Amino acid sequence: MAKSFSLSLYPWVYKAQHQPDGSWQEAFEAKVHLAPEAEAALPHEGRMALLARRNSFPDLPLVNYSTQYGFSVFEGLKAFPQKDGSLKLFRPDENARRMRRSMEGLKMPGFPEELFVLAVKEVVRRNKELGFYPRYNPEWEKDGFLSGHAVYIRPFSYTEPGIGLDLSHHPWVVIITTPVGAYFEGPNNKAVTTDRIRATPKGTGWIKCSANYVIPTLVKKEANEQGYMEAIFLDAREQRYVEEGSSCNIFFYLKNGTLVTPELGDTILPGITRKSVLALATHMGIPTEERKISIDEVLSEAKEVFVTGTAAGISYIESITHEGKTAVFNDGKMGEVTRTLLLTLKGIQYGAKEDPFGWMVPVE
Ligand SMILES: *Cc1c(COP(=O)(O)O)cnc(C)c1O
Repeated sequence: MAKSFSLSLYPWVYKAQHQPDGSWQEAFEAKVHLAPEAEAALPHEGRMALLARRNSFPDLPLVNYSTQYGFSVFEGLKAFPQKDGSLKLFRPDENARRMRRSMEGLKMPGFPEELFVLAVKEVVRRNKELGFYPRYNPEWEKDGFLSGHAVYIRPFSYTEPGIGLDLSHHPWVVIITTPVGAYFEGPNNKAVTTDRIRATPKGTGWIKCSANYVIPTLVKKEANEQGYMEAIFLDAREQRYVEEGSSCNIFFYLKNGTLVTPELGDTILPGITRKSVLALATHMGIPTEERKISIDEVLSEAKEVFVTGTAAGISYIESITHEGKTAVFNDGKMGEVTRTLLLTLKGIQYGAKEDPFGWMVPVE
């Protein structure tokens, strides 16, 4: 599933470093920039160089436990343009909690949740003040906000310098933002299972850490080369139960009317979209189950299949191929339950639908 999602850093970034006394020293920094209109008017190369602002972190150590050994966690969340011109964040408290837990999972000091939410708001607010934010476009209403733009926020940890293998005692937390455009469908929505393993019991599968992305990236590339847009991971022990998509959670709407998603454990990433979809489905009167679900059950019982994550939102899967057998869902088209959940979620995020759970948080 392709997506217009490239790095064109907004100027304001946030940095905080853990101090020996346990506090965090915070700083906001504005990277080189022109006014948004002046940047847009630059010739292509000048514009890319400026927008990327890629070499703009000379003050962080290059040789450290993140770059050498993968001691790095991250988050991804979005701020959505609203009709009144404001921006609203989707459940930032959830990202704050997961970031802290991820850092603690890698045995580094966890970043305080209140600081996380305040810093995210302030980075987005400062960039907006400079004019760096997507403007609300009423055209988006026509397709239920599937074409909507947003600010993508990427907080990540980064360790102190080091070459000998060690834990991070004084990490930084950096927050950068970049615009994300409309979601584009890939050439198809076919998925294929892989016999590679994403996460092992007692491993780091539940932690949003960079290291977990190596295998999925290889697998997704392999799936793409075979003509599939998505890869599906099975459990490490039996290669029988479905775990996740390449980097997203997975749902099955069964013929019996139940919405099933694999239960959380140490091999599944606790997605915030996953949690939200479960809440929405329950709210809509759809019975939900978090449990183990075998690939065989999926192939014979699923009516609709979709994957969830902040980047793609909710994406339907038209078919799954496993060991040469292919099951097609809903004639290869997006199903009704998937569509309803997708439009409800987008509607809440862009402020067009009631937010019964109080998920949206104003930036200002
Ligand atoms: C981030 C992520 C997800 C989706 O989580 P959201 O909070 O919904 O964005 C799912 N699976 C993996 C492996 C992830 O890293």
